[in-house]
Amino acid sequence: MGIVTRVFGLAFTAMGAFVLFSSVGTTDPFGLVWSFIGMFVMALGLTLMTAGKERDKKPTPPTVTEIRCSSCDFKEIRDFEKGDYILKPVEATCPKCQSTMTIEGVYIVREEPDEKDRI
Ligand SMILES: [Zn+2]
Repeated sequence: MGIVTRVFGLAFTAMGAFVLFSSVGTTDPFGLVWSFIGMFVMALGLTLMTAGKERDKKPTPPTVTEIRCSSCDFKEIRDFEKGDYILKPVEATCPKCQSTMTIEGVYIVREEPDEKDRI
């Protein structure tokens, strides 16, 4: 979907640029009108390309909370909940020894390698 939008955007931009540049410098009385149309089509194409990029944006990566038992080595990973912070005691007790458990870490799960060098 995003690729199709970008291809259309590129086509519109190229078409607009062609109309714009071929109408510049002509003695055609409609030259000015054509250059306006060219500019408009080009702007439309650029908007489409930008919109396509915007839609491809990935959702924020999921965050997980690591809970650890204070008495034994039991560890649990669950979805991050609002208000979670490191060393916060949780209401749930350890399923192994019934001791209290605390949050040991909060992590952002990255499913794909970082793409910060790509604009
Ligand atoms: Zn335990």
